[in-house]
Amino acid sequence: MQGLMQHGALTVDKIIDHAALWHGGREVVTRSVEGPIVRTTYGAIHDRAKRVSNALLGLGIKPGDRVGTLAWNTARHMEAWYGIMGVGAVCHTLNPRLFPEQIAWIANHAGDRAIFVDLTFLPIIAGVLHHLPTVEHVVLFTDRAHMPADFKPAGEAPNFKGLLCYEDLVAEHSADCAWGGFDEGTAAGLCYTSGTTGDPKGVLYSHRSNFLHTLITLQPDVMGLSQKDVILPVVPMFHANAWGVAFSAPGTGAKMVMPGAKMDGASIYELLDTEGVTFSAAVPTVWQMLLQHLKESGGKLPNLRKVVIGGAACPEVIIRAFQEDYDVEVVHAWGMTETSPVGTLSVMTDELEKLPYDQQMPYRLKQGRPPLGVELKLTDDAGQRLPHDGKSFGNLKIRGPIIAAEYFRGAGGRILDDEGFFDTGDVATIDDHGFMQITDRAKDVVKSGGEWISSIDIENIALGHPKAAMTAVIGVPHPKWDERPILLVKLKDGETATKEEFLEFLQGKIAKWWMPDDVVFVDEIPLGATGKIDKKLIRQRMKNYVLPGLAAATVARAEEAAPEPPPPAALAAADGAQAARIYAPEPEEPLSEPPPIPEPEVVEALAHADADAEAEGATP
Ligand code: AMP
Repeated sequence: MQGLMQHGALTVDKIIDHAALWHGGREVVTRSVEGPIVRTTYGAIHDRAKRVSNALLGLGIKPGDRVGTLAWNTARHMEAWYGIMGVGAVCHTLNPRLFPEQIAWIANHAGDRAIFVDLTFLPIIAGVLHHLPTVEHVVLFTDRAHMPADFKPAGEAPNFKGLLCYEDLVAEHSADCAWGGFDEGTAAGLCYTSGTTGDPKGVLYSHRSNFLHTLITLQPDVMGLSQKDVILPVVPMFHANAWGVAFSAPGTGAKMVMPGAKMDGASIYELLDTEGVTFSAAVPTVWQMLLQHLKESGGKLPNLRKVVIGGAACPEVIIRAFQEDYDVEVVHAWGMTETSPVGTLSVMTDELEKLPYDQQMPYRLKQGRPPLGVELKLTDDAGQRLPHDGKSFGNLKIRGPIIAAEYFRGAGGRILDDEGFFDTGDVATIDDHGFMQITDRAKDVVKSGGEWISSIDIENIALGHPKAAMTAVIGVPHPKWDERPILLVKLKDGETATKEEFLEFLQGKIAKWWMPDDVVFVDEIPLGATGKIDKKLIRQRMKNYVLPGLAAATVARAEEAAPEPPPPAALAAADGAQAARIYAPEPEEPLSEPPPIPEPEVVEALAHADADAEAEGATP
C-alpha cells in the first residue's frame, strides 16, 4: 500500500525559491574577482539565476547538456549554478588547479557545450579552447567594462561562437523562466575526482542527491546551520560542491560570505572580522595560514562559533589553537567527491562530551560518525566485515542516497559491492563509540612486515613539533620488512633541526615499530589540485632514495660486484641527511602525467555515447 502524501520532487531550484521567498533580503557578500566587496541578496540571486536560465536556453542549451564553470566562490557562480540546474542542464564544476591538459581532458569527457569562467581563468580557457570541440560558448563572469578587447583562442576552435559578457546576458534576458518540472533523479551536477590514480572520473549528482545532502548537512550534529549564521565557505565550489554550502546556506537563509580569489590568511581574516562570520569550512592548510596570520597580527575571532575541517586529516595543533586560543569549536569531517561530499563528522557524543577536554582529543582527531542517511562498513580484502574495536584496519565502504552508484559514462566499470556499498579506497578503523578514523588511502598505507602503519598518524604527530611547517610519511622499499616509513619534514622559515630531534619527539607517541627509519628535510611538500599532499609525486621524486643503513650495504655490494662507482642515488643516500638532494625533481621528467587530450574522433564517440544528448539531438 502506498502512502497518501504529496510527492514533491526534490529538485534544487526549490532551495533557492525558498531562500528568495522567505529570506529574500538576506545578504550574500563577495570579494569580487575584480577587487571590490560586492553585496547582493538571495532575492537578487534568484532573479538573476532565472535570467541565466533564459540566456542558456537562448544559446540552445537543452536539458541534460553539460555546462561547465571554472570559477571561484562568488555570488555570480551561485547564480550560474541555479540557472543551469533549474532548467535541467548539468552544472559541471571544473577545477582550475588542475593542469590545463587535464582541464581539457575533463571538459571533453564531459562534453561541455558552454563554460562560465572567471577573469582569472580566462587564459586557461584561451589556451585549451582549440582542444575543446564541444564547447560553443564561453561566458566571462564580469561586466562590460572588464571584458578583454582581444580575446583569441590559442588555436583554431571551429565550433566556438565567441566570448560572452555575463552581466550583458543577465541584463538582456527576462527573469520569467519556469524551473523544475522534471524527475528528481535528473542529473544536476558533475564533478570529476582528482584522478591521482588513473583518469579522472565524473561523479554525476542528481537533484535528489543534492537535496537530500542539504537536509543531511543541516542536522545539528552535522553542520547544524541556522538562518542566524553567517557562513564563509572557503572550500571551493569547484571541489566537491563546497561541501554543499551553496545549497545549505540558502536552504536555511543564512548570510553567505564568498571569498572569491583570495584565500590567504589576511584576506580570510578580513572577511571573518568585518562580516561577523559565525561558521566556516575549509581544508587544514587554509586554517594553518589563518592561524599563522592571527599569531602575527594578534587578531581575534569573537564571532566565529564553529569551523568544519576536512578534506585531509586535521592535526591536533589546529584543533587546540582554535579551541584554546580563540574559543572556536572544530568539527573534523571526512568525505569525498563521490559522497556529495559529507560522510562522517567528529562531533562529541553526549557521553564523550562529559570527559575532560584532553580525553576527548583522541576522538576529536578521528574523522567521526556517519549522520542519518549514510551507512558505513569496514571489511577485509575478502569483503568480510571487521569489528568496530578501534584496532582492526579495513577497507572503508559507504552506502546511501548521497553516494555515487557509478561514474559518468561508466568509467571504472562496476563500483558497488554486492550489498551496494562503494569502496572509498580509504583504510580506516571504527571504535566502540562508532568513531571512524582514516588511517590512510589504501595506496599510501606503509606495509611493514605484513602489518599496516598509518602514514597519516605519524605525519600528524610529527606536525606537532614546533619547528615543523609540513610533514609527510611514505613507505620506501626494505628487503626484510617490504616497506619502512620515512618522514619528510618542511621546516618553518628560518628553523634548523636534526633527524634525532624529530625521532625523539615521536618517542612514546607512536608504537616503536612505527618509528620512521629516516627523517628527510625538504624545501617543499607538494600539494595536488585539491590541496592534499601529493604522495604520488613524493614517491616519484623519492624513487631513487635508499634507506641509510641499506645504502651502505648497497654501496658495499656495488663495490664488491664491480669496479665502477655505485649509482649516484645510493651514494647520496649513504650519508642520510643528503637524501634531500634526491628529492629535487628531475628536470627531464614531467611532475605528473596529465591524461592525454582525446582525439576529436574520440570526443565525437564519447558525445554519441551519451544517449540523452543523442535523443535531444543536442550533440554538436
Ligand atoms: P576528494 O574526493 O578529492 O575530496 O578526496 C577524498 C579523499 O580525501 C578521501 O577519500 C580521503 O582519502 C581524503 N580525506 C577527506 N577528508 C579527510 C579527513 N578528514 N582525514 C583524512 N583524509 C581525508
